[in-house]
Amino acid sequence: MLATKLYVPTLREVPSDADVVSQQLMLRAGFMRKTANGLYSFLPLGWRSIKKIEAIVREEMDRASAQEIMMPILQPAEIWKESGRWNAYGAEMMRINDRHDNEFCLGPTHEEMITTLVKNEINSYRQLPVNLYQIQSKFRDERRPRYGLMRSREFIMKDAYSFDVDEAGLEESYKSMYDAYTRIFNRCGLTFRPVEADSGAIGGSGTHEFMAIAEAGEADIVYCTKCDYAANIEIGKPGIMKQAEEALQKLSVVDTPNASSIEAVGEMLNLPLHKTIKAVVFSIDGKVVLAIVRGDHEVNEVAVQHAVLGSVEPEMATPEELEKVGLTAGFISPVGLEQTEEFAIVVDESVMETYNVCGGANKKDAHYININPKRDFNVEDIIVAPIRLITKDDVCPTCGGS
Ligand SMILES: [Zn+2]
Repeated sequence: MLATKLYVPTLREVPSDADVVSQQLMLRAGFMRKTANGLYSFLPLGWRSIKKIEAIVREEMDRASAQEIMMPILQPAEIWKESGRWNAYGAEMMRINDRHDNEFCLGPTHEEMITTLVKNEINSYRQLPVNLYQIQSKFRDERRPRYGLMRSREFIMKDAYSFDVDEAGLEESYKSMYDAYTRIFNRCGLTFRPVEADSGAIGGSGTHEFMAIAEAGEADIVYCTKCDYAANIEIGKPGIMKQAEEALQKLSVVDTPNASSIEAVGEMLNLPLHKTIKAVVFSIDGKVVLAIVRGDHEVNEVAVQHAVLGSVEPEMATPEELEKVGLTAGFISPVGLEQTEEFAIVVDESVMETYNVCGGANKKDAHYININPKRDFNVEDIIVAPIRLITKDDVCPTCGGS
């Protein structure tokens, strides 16, 4: 075909809603077009590129003795109810009913499907191991689709599922996939790190995410400059940051009119952020969860979920939920509060090592000064856990490097 006939509708201007460079270039170069939020059509050059990437993935999966299959995108609710994930998956799952009012979902992943398939076929260890994969569209109703193809609602996934006789076989299959992914990323010319990650709704004991290191993206990772430790920031285990011991001052209330953020309070009272504590309130499994970290730290939502043994990802609590458990938004601290059936308090380990810090007085326009957590919190009643995000000031949990 003549190049002049090639359908490549280029754009002179950068589309105003394209927020990352990759998306801008693929739109401008006529590789793809946005159909709706988080949904894209691939044009000839874009689709050619995808097919080339798929070819690399296929070659490496086949080389690792995985076999390609194709399962339906549409999945019956029953198999998800059997696994208990119909509810656990939450709002991210696209659900539909057929004309007989039977429930279905558009597959966000295929563990239920493949297990249903394989359990009826494999009845002897002699048939194992087997590793089956497919390359297919997946659907996730993202709260905020963004970064072009990086967080879209319909996307192409290669998913492989291995079945082994025992734990040792599993390890072998895992290693074989780990090596295949390493070859795929190398052949695609990407700078990457296999990163320890939270397995989330997929479950399992160990998870690596293969992450391309890039300026634009939607996941933060920490990695060590000395050893090969690398982790998603959600799973990176921060150590306890201690503060120099001080004589305990008297707890007292100060007026802080309209200062409902810890930054505003710090400024008003001339306190550095590490001498303050801040509160973030979540809703998890219908329970209101108060999370407390130092003012200069950020809350790790995944760690909060684990701390309360939550089955779903934390959502921000609504004003109604705050009111229900008697919290005053913007002026919250654990001082004087107790946990109940519907209310949990989770305090970061490093907060317990602070002295004479400032935090909410649990009434409007007021804060406590000289909070000493070990003295002023109901320490028998609260949950203390590492719930802050690891930062570049932390040391490597494996080797102590930076
Ligand atoms: Zn290290």
